[in-house]
Amino acid sequence: MVKMIRNAISFLFQGPATRKYPYEKSEVPEGFRGPPTWDIERCTGCGICARVCPVDAIEVERTDEKIVVTYHLDRCTFCSQCEESCPRDVIRMSKEFELADFDREKMTTEYVQDRTD
Ligand code: SF4
Ligand code: SF4
Repeated sequence: MVKMIRNAISFLFQGPATRKYPYEKSEVPEGFRGPPTWDIERCTGCGICARVCPVDAIEVERTDEKIVVTYHLDRCTFCSQCEESCPRDVIRMSKEFELADFDREKMTTEYVQDRTD
């Protein structure tokens, strides 16, 4: 009992154990895997990333005019298979972690490379 009271008093003088999220954010640790991002100007449209994705979260369309990579965040498992498989080092796993949204449309991202230049 005495120990419990002593602990309770000591906790009164300690700072909080939690952060005031979302006002104070944690540092994302090295190796964290957030959604992949594409440096689309380096992409050849080979389609390997789409083929290796286990959940069909990537579509690649290549024409004479453009290369379009469509990424579906709402399907992605953040496995990083696409990043590891891209022969041109186009894909990087980001450190983004605030991903929730009420609108599913916002979870699709298109990366477009104009090939007519
Ligand atoms: S991280 Fe994995 S699940 Fe997400 S797009 Fe890449 S291969 Fe697909
Ligand atoms: S694997 Fe790389 S180069 Fe090939 S389509 Fe995907 S991002 Fe582009």
